[in-house]
Amino acid sequence: MQNLPSTVDLHTHSTASDGELAPAQLVAEAAAAGVSALALTDHDSVAGLAEARRASAELGLELINGVEVSSRWSNMDIHVVGLGVDPADERFQGRLQSQMERRLERARLMSHKLDKLGYPGMFEAAARQAPQNIPARPHFADALVKAGACRDRKQAFQRYLAQAKPAYVKTDWPDLMEAVRWIREAGGVAVLAHPGRYKLTRTKLDRLVKAFAEAGGQALEVSVATHGPEMVKQLADLAVKYELYASQGSDYHGPSMRWVQLGRMPSLPGQCLPVMTLLAQKVERARRVSP
Ligand code: AMP
Ligand code: MN
Ligand code: MN
Ligand code: MN
Repeated sequence: MQNLPSTVDLHTHSTASDGELAPAQLVAEAAAAGVSALALTDHDSVAGLAEARRASAELGLELINGVEVSSRWSNMDIHVVGLGVDPADERFQGRLQSQMERRLERARLMSHKLDKLGYPGMFEAAARQAPQNIPARPHFADALVKAGACRDRKQAFQRYLAQAKPAYVKTDWPDLMEAVRWIREAGGVAVLAHPGRYKLTRTKLDRLVKAFAEAGGQALEVSVATHGPEMVKQLADLAVKYELYASQGSDYHGPSMRWVQLGRMPSLPGQCLPVMTLLAQKVERARRVSP
């Protein structure tokens, strides 16, 4: 399936997590790519939203406040995107702070494992490039490449950082239900991120989507740059089956991943209800409550 240009991109990253572009740069690139509605969805962080909002106002682009929360389900790391969350919500901020503490602890443990594997000083090397000096796995991957441990990021994940590899550390993220609750309590719409990337059988993917819907999840990321046509079809059918809205996003992390571009993804199948309609309804309702 071709990744066609779209004006809506609801999954992107900036330097506030593991993206390469500062929030204002990302917004400018999105506008240049023809995107008119953009969600910035950094991992466990809303720190980039203020800068992105200022840039979006100048460029006339609609910015949707987003986040991508790390969670656990059935012994796997599962990501839940929150769209339309309130970044000023103090309880939510506290919850994201607890995620940063988990990230910091995990980074220390990963560094310890890498030390034992013969790569000392990886925490410091990775932290230099990371927001709040809390490195995520891509920062470790870059540090490993620099240290000559592997050829590129991909190989760093394959050899050391991916689940079940020697430097992987299981993290006690909130479970999927809790992540959904955090997002909804912060006024957001909970979207199951890139369901096609978890390498699940049809049965298990069905179980995941069912659990997500029962937890109060509202939308599935049907259209993602890395989903092939069969996956898009399968997810569109699951969205209908469990009465979920459909979202679309590039999961853009920056120009160095050349095969992922802002605003480029498969188009949503006709049977899908775009999550933008739900977001628009929320905005309309809020307007009626406080004119
Ligand atoms: P973390 O949030 O620290 O668990 O890191 C997860 C991030 O690592 C994802 O959001 C991707 O940006 C990146 N990532 C995950 N798997 C891979 C992979 N196999 N190759 C390259 N990057 C990956
Ligand atoms: Mn990432
Ligand atoms: Mn993700
Ligand atoms: Mn992402």
